Amino acid sequence: MTKRTQSNGKKKQTGLEEYRRKRDFEATPEPNGSRSKASSKKGLLFVIQKHQASHLHYDFRLEWRGVLLSWAIPKGPSLDPSVKRLAAQVEDHPIEYGGFEGVIPEGEYGGGTVMLWDRGAWVPEVPDVDAALRKGELKFVLNGKKLRGSWVLVRTRLGHSSKPQWLLIKHRDESASSEDIESQQPRSVLTKRLMADIARIDHGDVEKAAQADPAGSLAR
Ligand code: MN
Repeated sequence: MTKRTQSNGKKKQTGLEEYRRKRDFEATPEPNGSRSKASSKKGLLFVIQKHQASHLHYDFRLEWRGVLLSWAIPKGPSLDPSVKRLAAQVEDHPIEYGGFEGVIPEGEYGGGTVMLWDRGAWVPEVPDVDAALRKGELKFVLNGKKLRGSWVLVRTRLGHSSKPQWLLIKHRDESASSEDIESQQPRSVLTKRLMADIARIDHGDVEKAAQADPAGSLAR
């Protein structure tokens, strides 16, 4: 009666099957991906969502072939080209997810506060994105509010997780910097809210969310 699905995550799934299987759309405000993939007029979408789930991480997403390819980056991206940030590839997300900011109820998959931390367009710096993904080295330019310039995602064999592990690295260019972008620019690009603001307004766990805001930042 149901389709057999790959459950060990070792084999990369295409489409949104894994995304939907993990979520109860009666319980979470996240999009189910049923809307047609109304993409941006300005090229390929990229988003970063700051997500205080069981652990804080930054979800890095690149629009490709009608979905958002997704990586969870525990420390978030670094503007410093000498710093490599671990990025665990996770299930593809629907394009509409790129507009999501709010609270996933505790007890649901990924329960916690989600902030739209950066958003813009991305431009591949390789002639064949699919080949680059297979090879495990994808170069691209980000045109976001916070992240700009040239970057690379490199797949690594390190780690024992079933999830493919990549490294996100900034290339040397005029947008490289030693600035700690996560603590210097902690607010939502959509609403200027801090994590604690989002949790309070959307009835989440304010104390838990506030742990993800830099010390001394003032919620409104
Ligand atoms: Mn996440």
